[in-house]
Amino acid sequence: MTDAALPIGVTILGSGTCVPSLRRSSCAILMETGGKKLLFDAGAGTLRRMLESGVSIFDISCIFFSHFHPDHTAELVPFLFATKYSEGRHRKTPLTLIAGKGFSAFYQGLKQAYGAWIELDTDVLSVIEMNTQTPDLLDFDQFSVRTRPAAHNPESISYRITTPSGYSVVYSGDTDYCENLIALAADAQVLICECSHADEEKVQGHLSPSLAGGIATSANVQKLVLTHFYPRCDGFDIEKECRKTYKGKLVLAEDLMRL
Ligand SMILES: [Zn+2]
Ligand SMILES: [Zn+2]
Repeated sequence: MTDAALPIGVTILGSGTCVPSLRRSSCAILMETGGKKLLFDAGAGTLRRMLESGVSIFDISCIFFSHFHPDHTAELVPFLFATKYSEGRHRKTPLTLIAGKGFSAFYQGLKQAYGAWIELDTDVLSVIEMNTQTPDLLDFDQFSVRTRPAAHNPESISYRITTPSGYSVVYSGDTDYCENLIALAADAQVLICECSHADEEKVQGHLSPSLAGGIATSANVQKLVLTHFYPRCDGFDIEKECRKTYKGKLVLAEDLMRL
């Protein structure tokens, strides 16, 4: 259950990857703070998981993309299309899409393919590109956003959301081990970190449980939430592997889990 007292509510919408899975939808995380609903990544299945957690597309005011891989962006097109086909409901809150450098061109490509079906009015939709070479910062009324480059794709960034009271949740997106993530997550209350493969099957560009645990320990986070599990993770003791390097609060994400 959500602790209503927490300054940032987190719901794991999708804890999975590109691999179709009934248990784990592709990557998506919902954060709620200061009356705003924020979506982090939107892989396939996100719209259904949003409905299951009682959230409408019209409630979302920002979508943050960690990078452009389809398991993190594929539901953007259905999201925009459904926003146009509103069946009586209309978007009153503006929608901001936030991602690393190159996102405008990526979005332009989608519009070339789908045309007016996914085009929203410019007074409703805005796009913000964050720096992918250096740390970057974005201020909203209810929270601030800090980003750092992640070790995955050229456009990959990790996000840190901080409330005015200083409560922070960090979302790694896809990444390999990197000092940037440790710096970004320093002393955060929650680190939601990718954990694609078991230690024995570590893949370049992704983390394993003990590496994610090492990052959480170095960053001194209060709670580590592992997510983005490939199905083969089920054959390993992910918690035990993470415990080799991390002693703090640990959560293995499941779809629709609320923190
Ligand atoms: Zn991914
Ligand atoms: Zn990826």
